[in-house]
Amino acid sequence: MNQTKPRTKRREYPSAQLSGSYYDSSNAQPVPNPNVSNSQEPQYETNTEGNMLQPAMVSLMRPDVNSLHSSISQIKQPAYVHTLVPSTDDKIGEADYMFSSMTVIPRLRSTFEKLHAPLSITLRPFNPMHEETVHHIHGAELFRCRWCGAFITSFVEFNADRTTFLCSACALENKIPNAANLSGISCVQPNPNLQYTLAEYTGIRNGRALYSRAMRPPTFVFIIDVTLQATQVSVLHVLKDAISSSINDLKESFRLVSVAFILVADNVSLLVPTTKDTLEQIVLPDLDDFFLPYPVEHFLLDLNTQSKAIASFLNNLPSFGTTSSSLCLGNALEACKELLSNGGGKTLCFLSSLPNLGSSALAVRDSVATLNSVEESNILLPKTDYYKNIALDFADQYISSDLFVFGASYHDVKTLEALPQLTGGKLHCYFDWNAATDNCTDALHKDLRFSLTSLNALGCLITVTPPKNIKLHCVHGNVYRRAINKCSIPYVSCDQTVVFEFEFEGSLNPKQFATFQIQLLYTSPYTGQKTLRLFTYAAAINEDMLSLYSGMDSFPLFHNYLETSFAETQSKALTDIRTMLSHRLCDFFNAYKKNTQLRHPFSSIVVPNAIQRFPLLIHALLRNTALRYATNIPSDFRSCLWFHLSTATLKRLRFLIYPLCVSLIEFSKNDFTTPHPVPLLFECMRSDNAYLLFDGISLYLIVRKDVTPDVLVSVLQKDVIPEVFGGKVNFSLKSIKFVQQIDDFVHKVIDEAMCTSLPNVIVVRESNTSSLWNWIRQSLLESSFKLFPGYSNFLQLLDTQKVNFRNSHSS
Ligand SMILES: [Zn+2]
Repeated sequence: MNQTKPRTKRREYPSAQLSGSYYDSSNAQPVPNPNVSNSQEPQYETNTEGNMLQPAMVSLMRPDVNSLHSSISQIKQPAYVHTLVPSTDDKIGEADYMFSSMTVIPRLRSTFEKLHAPLSITLRPFNPMHEETVHHIHGAELFRCRWCGAFITSFVEFNADRTTFLCSACALENKIPNAANLSGISCVQPNPNLQYTLAEYTGIRNGRALYSRAMRPPTFVFIIDVTLQATQVSVLHVLKDAISSSINDLKESFRLVSVAFILVADNVSLLVPTTKDTLEQIVLPDLDDFFLPYPVEHFLLDLNTQSKAIASFLNNLPSFGTTSSSLCLGNALEACKELLSNGGGKTLCFLSSLPNLGSSALAVRDSVATLNSVEESNILLPKTDYYKNIALDFADQYISSDLFVFGASYHDVKTLEALPQLTGGKLHCYFDWNAATDNCTDALHKDLRFSLTSLNALGCLITVTPPKNIKLHCVHGNVYRRAINKCSIPYVSCDQTVVFEFEFEGSLNPKQFATFQIQLLYTSPYTGQKTLRLFTYAAAINEDMLSLYSGMDSFPLFHNYLETSFAETQSKALTDIRTMLSHRLCDFFNAYKKNTQLRHPFSSIVVPNAIQRFPLLIHALLRNTALRYATNIPSDFRSCLWFHLSTATLKRLRFLIYPLCVSLIEFSKNDFTTPHPVPLLFECMRSDNAYLLFDGISLYLIVRKDVTPDVLVSVLQKDVIPEVFGGKVNFSLKSIKFVQQIDDFVHKVIDEAMCTSLPNVIVVRESNTSSLWNWIRQSLLESSFKLFPGYSNFLQLLDTQKVNFRNSHSS
């Protein structure tokens, strides 16, 4: 008997999370449940109201930064749910698959409207770190509600004679199709197949319900820019090696896999096999009246049988470089659409120049003059709908598109990003591309390998079934919304995140829970098998305002605001987005004050722990390079950052939004136990200390002005110290030589932030003349510069509604 297991498990949830402590009734002793077949699994006693703890209230002023970097609370079923459905070994609470802005929701629509807060679920469909916690069930018989299509879960209610049941989502009556098969479901003893928050079903017996389109085995089309610019920056040489080596990984990952190559400059050419060992380049004749000269199968090369021909072509790739400066990318994308029209696939597009030919032509919009004007953010709007439309066609055909952009020249990333954004793709920008450095080539190798082999699902169709009177309002993330409650991701990789936002259409049934069901129907890239992944989430229903606020969660709330802002970048200038964000934050806390009858200013109100971090995160987003007012940030760089923010998993987002900063000297003094993060405040950084700062992309070693070389002896190996003090700035992580404990810590953090490649170590020595130090102070540290209000100042400005980020620069 393992009676203490669930209690230990619960204690692992961050204690600061009020939603956790609120439900974590100390009186609820786990007792063994004789009805459950696996007698090791205990059941909880029913909570009574008397057991509820009063939420601890905290000031809205600066939250502990440690709470930003400790784990984010997962969606977990409230304790009542555990009383009905024994939690068994349902480990979703420990793995980051699903988060919600509200774990307690109101019953009445009017109460929901009073909250001025979004109800959203952040879903990460696949998480390789925790896939072992998914329950795989083979050959089950599943039933769906005939009214709303939701699968039957343990939350259904039966009538007295057990001939019908009420669907847990729409609350309409269904006849039990086969009483014998459903006998396992009851509130006391659920059918083991249905009791998990996250379960995956294969070989479902009544498979008619699982219609989805046929996908072909993993297929990758490489679109390679062979213009003069590509040759000039030596991209083709590096691609030759990178594609060759990742193709070998592909062969190891998938049993069946095919590839195709499209070369593009002022014309489009495809590669076809002539003999067994060679490929021939065929130039597509007419750009305006475009057709494929052979059947599609002719261009799709089988990686197992045609590997010799592919290897010999890749070996010669640099010789395909042309002298043309024109790029007709649109025609290459059209060719790709034809190639993958029947069964989907993925395109990887390598761009070294701006598409400037044909209907897809773009022009240079970014210049020093526009950057310095008040209209700085208008160039961040997409220029044409061409790429959006072709991306929609791609998504419709289950074609995903990854974009690789090389060099600092202007690429109009904002317009091109529609390609990955609508098709579940990735955007990789190498602005400081230099083929001669290992850093650049390593990064490309790793990103490419990740693009090709991190595949979890093909042709994923997501269906969301919210409870009755709650409607799916919008979907964020790089997905394609097909219908009211359906969206799709062509090729799903393990770091994909989707945000579903809901709205109330009426009031909920007076029940204990509101159940949300998310179904993922996909084809496995490894076995070709149709698979159904089912996420079920039961939110507690409560009308008490304080319970509702205590059940919220800062990170998913923030994630919703971030995604909404990103969606607005398609049509709004950055100044308007900054204003919108601060107004929404004001709205939220004004509503909070009204609902809880508090009258103090923001800087002195108390709030439940669960929402304390929220304004700090918004403040950090407003300061982020993607969004803050500045006249010297290239628009491509901003667009790329926005894209990364909007597609990152929550774990990675923590670093991108609020970089992790630790004191190196404290670290070594405390026997290298993991140090407490330092707030990103100039005042908190001692002048005789050195700091490590990680923003999810780069690792900074910040050496303040009074640090002497001997101070660094305990953290750096001796031979590096003269180099650090000698003015060298860029180090690879290997060459910086931290002592072992710090090296371990750094690697742990890099893993958590899901970096595909190792970051560089950038050494920043404090001095008034160092532009790097000034940049760190202004953009990463929350400083008292006039450019941006510090956090306390920000709260006061919110009170007076005077936050105006457009003019804060000139004031
Ligand atoms: Zn239903």
